[in-house]
Amino acid sequence: MKKIKLTKAQKKKLFSILVVLVVVCIAGFLSHRGESIQPLVEYFPFLEEIFPQESVPAGAPVMDGAGLRVHILDVGQADCILIQGPEKVLVIDGGESGDASTIIQYLQKQGVERIDYYLNTHPHSDHYGGITQVMQAIPTGEFFHHPVPEEHTPTTRSYQKLIQYLLDSKTKTTVLDPGDTLDLGGGAVLTILAPLEGYEDMNNNSLVGRLTFGERAFLFTGDAEKKSEKAILESGVELSADVYSIPHHGSNTGMTQKFLDQVKPQYATISVGKDNDYGHPHRDTIQRLSEGEVPCLRTDLLGNIVFETDGKTLSLSTDRGEYQKAA
Ligand SMILES: [Zn+2]
Repeated sequence: MKKIKLTKAQKKKLFSILVVLVVVCIAGFLSHRGESIQPLVEYFPFLEEIFPQESVPAGAPVMDGAGLRVHILDVGQADCILIQGPEKVLVIDGGESGDASTIIQYLQKQGVERIDYYLNTHPHSDHYGGITQVMQAIPTGEFFHHPVPEEHTPTTRSYQKLIQYLLDSKTKTTVLDPGDTLDLGGGAVLTILAPLEGYEDMNNNSLVGRLTFGERAFLFTGDAEKKSEKAILESGVELSADVYSIPHHGSNTGMTQKFLDQVKPQYATISVGKDNDYGHPHRDTIQRLSEGEVPCLRTDLLGNIVFETDGKTLSLSTDRGEYQKAA
């Protein structure tokens, strides 16, 4: 075989071609996985032409100071709520770990590039399961929770992973108590209402919060049960809300008649999985809502449920079903 001798200039050219090929392969791989190639584009501008990057519409992550959007995500028998405030993004809970990719894709579709606040209502896997993966995929500013007695702290690998991730990533972690507030800018504020006592069971230790923006209010309840509801009622705080996220996936452990009477919602939402093993939502819950003529919006029937408000009007859209209307 004849050996080909390359001149210095030819070697240089060949090396350049190889470098370009490797860079194109890496960019192609990253693009295929839906990851940003921006750092590579800085050094190799021609990549932008080969792999055009989807640009995020301005103001998509938050509502440009003018509005508020609340998404009740369809994550089966679990909870995840995205709140795009006028200036800040808040996510409440993160489904089961198997829901993480659904949540990440949904958030990215909404243009959410950063989560300012991540709140875990309580450490049950259907509420914290996907949080670690979501935080790994989308930069998160601060993590909020309410401590549970040591004997109730989950010993599961997925919970240990979350704690380890918070430590390793040095994410600021803050305990929320009743009376604390999270400011989403533009006058949108989440006020923590519960837990008012240290309860034996985890569900009652759920963080409960009321979000107000202009004339509109939303109530988020985690899996809080009757004991916590009773304490909230006794505390005398304002409970009225246009949208009431029903506790504990519509189980009959919560949403007493007394509590519902104080909330007086225009809409109730239930995060619930199709044909779940728990029989959620309970028929008492459905009956109570129908007697009060409160439309019951279920993620198992309607998919993702999205409310939008400018502080006055409230509009609603769902993936499927009959609730494609403004109120
Ligand atoms: Zn739950």
